[in-house]
Amino acid sequence: MTRWLIPPPPTPSLPILDDGRRYAVRRILCVGQNYADHAREMGADPDRPAPFFFSKPAMALVTDGADPAFPSMTENLHHEAELVLALGEAAEIIGWAVGCDLTRRDLQAEAKSRGRPWDAAKGFDQSAPCGTLNLGPAPAPDAAIRLLVNGEERQSARLSDMIWAPHEIVEQAARLWTLGPGDLIFTGTPAGVGALNPGDRVEATIDGLYPLSFTLRLPHA
Ligand code: MN
Repeated sequence: MTRWLIPPPPTPSLPILDDGRRYAVRRILCVGQNYADHAREMGADPDRPAPFFFSKPAMALVTDGADPAFPSMTENLHHEAELVLALGEAAEIIGWAVGCDLTRRDLQAEAKSRGRPWDAAKGFDQSAPCGTLNLGPAPAPDAAIRLLVNGEERQSARLSDMIWAPHEIVEQAARLWTLGPGDLIFTGTPAGVGALNPGDRVEATIDGLYPLSFTLRLPHA
């Protein structure tokens, strides 16, 4: 029997719609620039040959309707509404959710310009709000994905606008990692990313999936 120096931390997990069980999360992979209009607004060529990935720690998840804290060390926190995939025993897609890839855009710009990693820009505490997991069929290919801030629409697109479809993203990621249960993949965001302030109410929706909403808490509140 293993004896722990310090008891293991709780396993990050997502609630499942109409199901008393939870989905245990072991890691979060994220796709960069998977919508052509967002790739353009970030100054990139959307015709790149393969998607690229970055990651967030599983402990960055914010679930069950909790409100994330506005992070330290940024003057430009951005929202990114995203379709989230949850993988099963055979690394197949078994669930779908609405997520928000919170980003310290100023730190990301600095990291890009200096060729440094994105961890502080993307993988900070509470940077991955994610809604309830839907184990049902995939959302419609042309389902609308939207994000509102304080009731005002900021992002609006269709899942069919994605450069790489969900199953293609999983295929590409499987070339780089041994995928399996507990792996979440944030599949990229459409155009319209923008700044958030403490107190802002964020609502993200994808037709057919449980909506995600949260209010950015004041730092240290
Ligand atoms: Mn993103």
